[in-house]
Amino acid sequence: MSALLEAKDLERRYRLRDGRELQAVAGVSLTIAPGEALALVGESGCGKSTLGRLLLRLDDPTSGTLRFDGEEITTLSERRLRALRPRMQMVFQDSYASLNPRRTAGDALAEPLRIHRRPGVAARVRELLGLVGLPEAAAAKFPHEFSGGQRQRLNIARAIALGPALIVADEPVSALDVSVQAQIINLFRDLQARLGLACVFISHDLAVVRQMADRIAVMYLGAIVEEGEGMAVLAAPAHPYTRALLDAVPRADRPLPPPLSGEVPSPISPPSGCRFHPRCPIARDRCGIETPALRMTGTGRAVACHFPLVSEAGSGFSS
Ligand code: ADP
Ligand code: MG
Repeated sequence: MSALLEAKDLERRYRLRDGRELQAVAGVSLTIAPGEALALVGESGCGKSTLGRLLLRLDDPTSGTLRFDGEEITTLSERRLRALRPRMQMVFQDSYASLNPRRTAGDALAEPLRIHRRPGVAARVRELLGLVGLPEAAAAKFPHEFSGGQRQRLNIARAIALGPALIVADEPVSALDVSVQAQIINLFRDLQARLGLACVFISHDLAVVRQMADRIAVMYLGAIVEEGEGMAVLAAPAHPYTRALLDAVPRADRPLPPPLSGEVPSPISPPSGCRFHPRCPIARDRCGIETPALRMTGTGRAVACHFPLVSEAGSGFSS
């Protein structure tokens, strides 16, 4: 199957007011197949949101290329980009972010349909509410009259209104109660299956990702350090950073683990060599000198580590 979205060496640098420069996304390559769910995980500040915006061309890459559905879109004009918008949509963590507080849910859903001159607006609004599990009566309500979870359902309905092929959801459940999180994740899964939607699901929380992802890409300081099939990555992480993230997930069957030691270093002056080496429990001299490339292993797993935890054959842990 050909890729829906293909990013090559995407980079985003920001110039700060004091003149210094920061590399928020440091050369990311990834592909997303039609209908696929890719989870993008990593601690806060790792560049997930910046990458998410780049993937939808809501922000411009400093360098690198982006193809969507076979078309080069890296430098597409605003006008051509507008024509593409119905096919790629974003859902944000803040459920109020893209809703006008003075307009009803029905208006919020009708707006993109009217702008793009779609026929049968009223019927489509009802259909969208049904798709996301909201009652028809919800159309008359204002954003503040919904619970956080319902408001996120409304945002998802708005995002799928024009029939997109790709949704980037940036921490869409991070502001919700755990019980509601599961419902919204199920909704994403359901819509993916029914509509053939591809989804990039951004989260700092591996526990959330477990239920969502066909594939997982782990980001650290602007770069992908591990990528592979979701269950396989969670069962046997190959990068010490992925392992540390997993170990930090609270579980009923063990005492609360210690958090990952230290903080994500500043991308203004990232560590030399492997960017994770100052926090890595298995780092050796080489790691502070030589930057490990993201390499494919024999098992469809890519890992950027000189000493990966999973052997080439994928048959378990090396010592
Ligand atoms: P995440 O979503 O993983 O928390 P972000 O993509 O928001 O990470 O940020 C990555 C890095 O880029 C952070 O160090 C952040 O401070 C920096 N950053 C993000 N946006 C800007 C901006 N507009 N100007 C300067 N720095 C930014
Ligand atoms: Mg973010």
